[in-house]
Amino acid sequence: MKKTRPKKFKNRFQKFYHLNKDRINKKRRLVYKQKDKKGTCVRCKKRALKGITFCAFHRKKQHQYNMNR
Ligand SMILES: [Zn+2]
Repeated sequence: MKKTRPKKFKNRFQKFYHLNKDRINKKRRLVYKQKDKKGTCVRCKKRALKGITFCAFHRKKQHQYNMNR
């Protein structure tokens, strides 16, 4: 039998994320920015193409992903 406890979160990971999402997102943005500055692909360690944050391989992947939506 299930316990009748209010379940706000599916699991403790979701709870953790909910409680820390501001911090997590801030950190993510920071990493993204840093990579952007260095000209490194945000998906891997390869050099990004000029003006974007992806390498040639991941730009292609991203493009395909957008096409499928
Ligand atoms: Zn890449």
